[in-house]
Amino acid sequence: MMPAKPSAPIPLTILSGFLGAGKTTLLNHLINSDHGLRIAVLVNDFGAINIDAQLIVGVPTAEQINLANGCVCCTIRGDLLRAALQLVERADPPDYIVIEPSGVSDPVSVAQTFQLPELRDRIRLDAIVAVVDAEQFGQLEGANAYMAYEQLTVADLIVINKIDLVTPEQIAALKRKWLYPTARVIETSFGRVPIDLLLDTGRFDPAKLLTRPTREVHVHERSGADHPHHDHSLTFSAYSWQCAAPLSLKALKRALRQLPNTFYRAKGLLYLADDPTRRGVLQIVGTRITLTMDDSWHGAEPRTQIVGIGAPNSFDAAALDALWESCRADRQPASIAEQILSGALTWLRHKR
Ligand SMILES: [Zn+2]
Repeated sequence: MMPAKPSAPIPLTILSGFLGAGKTTLLNHLINSDHGLRIAVLVNDFGAINIDAQLIVGVPTAEQINLANGCVCCTIRGDLLRAALQLVERADPPDYIVIEPSGVSDPVSVAQTFQLPELRDRIRLDAIVAVVDAEQFGQLEGANAYMAYEQLTVADLIVINKIDLVTPEQIAALKRKWLYPTARVIETSFGRVPIDLLLDTGRFDPAKLLTRPTREVHVHERSGADHPHHDHSLTFSAYSWQCAAPLSLKALKRALRQLPNTFYRAKGLLYLADDPTRRGVLQIVGTRITLTMDDSWHGAEPRTQIVGIGAPNSFDAAALDALWESCRADRQPASIAEQILSGALTWLRHKR
């Protein structure tokens, strides 16, 4: 049998960015732009439940591969390799591949996977994009701050997102403090970036992977000079809870106020007794909590799924389970329905 004719490598964009930066929103915007391409997406969630995968709309099931319960840069790197091989080996491969690694992933390790002998001739890394939350980036601390900054140092393209939440002075300060003057920067809100600026840019610079400043902070990490592997499950702990019974919004809002600050990022799909036919989407990033209501459940069975990420041993999972359980509508003393407005509901958590 004749060997298959080698086809042109498939371009791939890595959509990195720290927890809650707005990667999934940007990905949705990109997929649903007018591009005429068959784009395959690889979506990675650190926790056991892949919420991001459920928030993506407009991608045929066959073109979306969900990688959950680990981080594609370390613990489930093999899964990433297998998924990418599966895409390129198809009889009818996609025109373009976009990967959304988990918010704690190191884009360098992700990029290196695509340079392995099995993939390097079949995939062309087009760019590493880093999405930045304009409001929260400067508020990150310790290992979180370092990891978020590290993602920026290797980005070929930086998207400063959520600029509607900050002043022009704050954006200028962010750039001055954290960005190289040479970095290509796009400022936006709600991930609205023109697709031409994001895909097929040819901006990937392999030299950057080698010249990145040495890692200086290794909080709870096993890495060392001759053992560069690190495992994000040691730096972060994932939490998840799900429930088929509807929750009371009023109780939930009360519960969210008690969420520990160490729980940096949480998100969820909410089944609310107050509005059971629509899917609620909960986003918690730093101190900001946002709830938006979708039009429907998109054909899925209504159920609440909440996931979160915090430092190891920084939260009590059993206590959190009990907290959410107490929000069940059937456990409320008297049902006082909360009025849900058509727009997004947003409020702030208590600051430290
Ligand atoms: Zn990792």
